[in-house]
Amino acid sequence: MRRAHTRLFPGVRQQLLDAIYAGRPFRAIVIDLGLISDQVLGLTKTEEHWAAALEAALMASRRDDLTHGTNAAYAQGCVCSDCRAHQRIWMDRRERGEHASLSEPVQWSPPPSPRSWNQGRL
Ligand SMILES: [Zn+2]
Repeated sequence: MRRAHTRLFPGVRQQLLDAIYAGRPFRAIVIDLGLISDQVLGLTKTEEHWAAALEAALMASRRDDLTHGTNAAYAQGCVCSDCRAHQRIWMDRRERGEHASLSEPVQWSPPPSPRSWNQGRL
């Protein structure tokens, strides 16, 4: 399958930034503009100006009621730098197979009953 190469034209970037400042969720805007969030965010790695502009918009409009830098905030669609950094760490872990430790059931052991405890002592 051929990878779609949609360019982020300056006009589209401005629409995206305007919508973020207007308080619309990032992912919804990206879909409306026919973009892919990975593409929009991926550009920040190579384009400093875009990274700065996007980050400023995201930080200015991010929700105050979320704890940023957590899965909860990311799940709410927040892609501010704090949430992305957190998600990156999490994804890295998943790629390395460390997710097993996150989903592992906690071993439950019954507390020693007073009787057996006494028996052990006596
Ligand atoms: Zn956030």
